[in-house]
Amino acid sequence: MPTILVVEDESAVARGLQYALQQEGYEVTVAPSGETGLTVASELAPDLVILDVRLPGIDGFETLRRLRAAGSKAPVLMLTARADEVDKVIGLELGADDYLTKPYGLRELMSRVRALLRRAYGDLADATGGRQIRHRDLVIDLERRRVLRGERRIALTATEFELLRHLAQRPGRVFTRRELLELVRDYEALDQDEKTINVHVSHLREKLEDDPAAPVFIVTVRGAGYAFAER
Ligand code: CA
Repeated sequence: MPTILVVEDESAVARGLQYALQQEGYEVTVAPSGETGLTVASELAPDLVILDVRLPGIDGFETLRRLRAAGSKAPVLMLTARADEVDKVIGLELGADDYLTKPYGLRELMSRVRALLRRAYGDLADATGGRQIRHRDLVIDLERRRVLRGERRIALTATEFELLRHLAQRPGRVFTRRELLELVRDYEALDQDEKTINVHVSHLREKLEDDPAAPVFIVTVRGAGYAFAER
């Protein structure tokens, strides 16, 4: 299921959104401030962000700017309260993908969410279909947690699968070793250092790539980290 991050400080509104989105089958995390939202976004790599403009601390505009600066390409739906905020969303070209002015109807919100996910990920975001990521003949089946190259099934450890999933869900996004280490924390002992990631990536390449020395799926970005190849 697609994951959605809701950044909204008014808890009643946030809970309402969370409930409605969960009813549609999305996994939803709520953050009550821009700062919290950014932390959650870097850990979760959500598929979509719903971002209120008026927040305590940094506002929605600044949150969006920092989100994009951190490399997130997740579609962002901004929630605005007034016409001048709408002007700002459009005028600043901060990278918001769509906006809704409060008060909005939930049905309208759901249709925007579906449209954004479809635009960003194609059929991957179709909540009724199986979610798959495809690149060349590599197929990552997110629901069955299976990886195929052509007809050949590739056996991965839980950690390898999570690493691959996170990289492949954001093609072209460079993940630092530290970020990847945070992502695999749930699957590994806590005292691992960043070199662990190199080892996992090298195992992944041996399993996935035709020539692990010249990878076409998981590429090294020198001095920065790793990225999944863009289509
Ligand atoms: Ca608010």
